[in-house]
Amino acid sequence: MTKRPETLAAQALHQTDHETGAVIPPIHPATTYMRDENNALVGDMDYRRPKGPTEVQAARVLARLENAADARLFSSGLAAISAVLDTLEIGAHVVAQTEMYYGAKKLLHHLAAKGLISLSFFDPHDMAGLEKAVHKGRTELVWIETPANPSWAVVDIARAAEIAHAAGAILGVDSTCAPPCTTRALDLGADLVMHSATKYLNGHSDVLMGAVATKTSDERWEKLCTGHGLSGAVPGAFDSWLMMRGLRTLFVRFERQSENALKVAQALSQHDAVSHVLYPGLNSHPGHAIAARQMTNGFGGLLSIRLKGGADAARKLCASTEVFLQATSIGGVESLIEHRKPIEGPSSPTPDDLVRLSCGIEAADDLIEDLMLALKRL
Ligand SMILES: *Cc1c(COP(=O)(O)O)cnc(C)c1O
Repeated sequence: MTKRPETLAAQALHQTDHETGAVIPPIHPATTYMRDENNALVGDMDYRRPKGPTEVQAARVLARLENAADARLFSSGLAAISAVLDTLEIGAHVVAQTEMYYGAKKLLHHLAAKGLISLSFFDPHDMAGLEKAVHKGRTELVWIETPANPSWAVVDIARAAEIAHAAGAILGVDSTCAPPCTTRALDLGADLVMHSATKYLNGHSDVLMGAVATKTSDERWEKLCTGHGLSGAVPGAFDSWLMMRGLRTLFVRFERQSENALKVAQALSQHDAVSHVLYPGLNSHPGHAIAARQMTNGFGGLLSIRLKGGADAARKLCASTEVFLQATSIGGVESLIEHRKPIEGPSSPTPDDLVRLSCGIEAADDLIEDLMLALKRL
């Protein structure tokens, strides 16, 4: 029978241990692998850079969930993005969003400042802007993030793929905020899909990891795999094993986080101190219709609010919640709150009155009560 994605994830593809019958695969921390009397490798593995058995098992589960030809794991999400950018020709034209994860944008500017790439940006709310930003025969990579940090602009992946491909470029998607339990970017036309596995895929705020999965095992993928070994930006075996354990509960975690975020968004929409609630699951969100099409199993746990009281109110709110911990990062089982602008720095376009919320799996009523009490104290 053809197993559904929920089953594949929960069972982590049933990669059991044949030697002992253990239902969970063992962790393989070995850095090196034996050769026989003919100097031939005993198994498939050689050395743990770029990959050992545990990393391969974890990547296999992710590849299956993304409907990918192959996937590789990296030491962080940023290392995964670097690996994609490292496949580009020197001076390649890259098109990205004005609004995106600020660390990735910094990396793009860093490479552009060294002359390694040239950059154009488009407003993620405006697909006509993307069409104008790409140049046929010149643009090599269109890089999108959806929903995009921190106002959760939704980009139409299928449309972005058409635009990229018509220009002869590839489409890469940072799908960190729309994991494969809700969006399969490759099925929608992307060529590469990337995750900060630090977030939803692992889901417990205890592993730093990145991943890239590919639609086809083509020449670019070969380059990326070569770069993986050369850069050495590989994760540890234990981290890979933890990420694979995280993937087993991805569907239920994401479902609960989506439910919680929707309830929180609805409750905050009613509040006098709040000027905007930015959540793709709300009808009022500009990207709602596209999100409803391409996020088939929930809109996720991430939302932002803007406060009428400005930066002062944002600072105070984040300092006075009790259930929401004031910390950076997203996608974990515990809820986090953050005044975003000071984290992103002065060059960031994020408004200073914006507070980012990552809803975990706690009781929705506790999350709402916590925010209501903190808002009362402003
Ligand atoms: C966190 C994050 C990254 C960077 O990932 P790290 O694992 O922290 O290196 C990239 N993109 C998005 C959307 C993120 O949220």
